[in-house]
Amino acid sequence: MQKRINEIIQKLKDADAILVGASNGLSISEGYHLFANNEAFQKMFGDFQRKYGFRNLLDGMYARYPEEEKWAYMARMIKHYTNDYQVTPAMQALVKLIGTRPYFIVTSNGEGHFEAAGFAAENIYEIEGNMLTMQCSKACHTKLYPAHDVIEKLAAAEEDGKVAKNLIPKCPVCGASMCIHSAVEPCFIPDDDANERLQAFLKEYTGKKIFILELGIGMRNQMIKAPLMKLADREENATYVTVNKGEIYITDNIKEKSYGLDGDMTEILLSLADAV
Ligand SMILES: [Zn+2]
Repeated sequence: MQKRINEIIQKLKDADAILVGASNGLSISEGYHLFANNEAFQKMFGDFQRKYGFRNLLDGMYARYPEEEKWAYMARMIKHYTNDYQVTPAMQALVKLIGTRPYFIVTSNGEGHFEAAGFAAENIYEIEGNMLTMQCSKACHTKLYPAHDVIEKLAAAEEDGKVAKNLIPKCPVCGASMCIHSAVEPCFIPDDDANERLQAFLKEYTGKKIFILELGIGMRNQMIKAPLMKLADREENATYVTVNKGEIYITDNIKEKSYGLDGDMTEILLSLADAV
């Protein structure tokens, strides 16, 4: 393992730029588990579980129920996982790994942890939204608004799983309720500006040594993993490193330039950061 880690770090040091792709596996290593009916979920959302049968965080995000309750749920969740987030060892290791190298991050994680850890917002594309922003629930215009202060206010005002109707933020253009900027909402507005910045980054480093670091993405993922593997194939000087637990998948056409690290996300990131 250490020999491979050292080899990977040499590739990283030689690289012109780093492209990070991240999904659920990274969130889970940080204690944010969208799909688990675990103790943390039952403790924080036992009331919603009893009332609506939610089995995990995602159920409560997807479900359609009265907006005074939905906003109470979202505020409680976002306050805990985003507003009050403390940067974890996994994220600190990633910060150290990237150092001062040019980078871009593409992620389906919406909890805003990259920015909280100090990565620049302009170098992040959150393809499924960011819970610290909100949008018009009718998508009458595409502007995204900061949600941090609204979350603080609603989380503090919540009572019995509800917030007062007059506290629900309203769209400044059409007056409809706002909703959290998340792909679970039917009216979700994709962040086209961030996508353009990603495309510009890829163009800038075409033909150069691009180091692709994929963190916790399921093997069949088509949104991030498949495009990253295609990029690794297309780019002659690319290195592709995939980190996941029990789910390493590398297509044959890129295996010469690829490394799969199977195991605990935090431990692997710490090993990589130690070697850098
Ligand atoms: Zn509107």
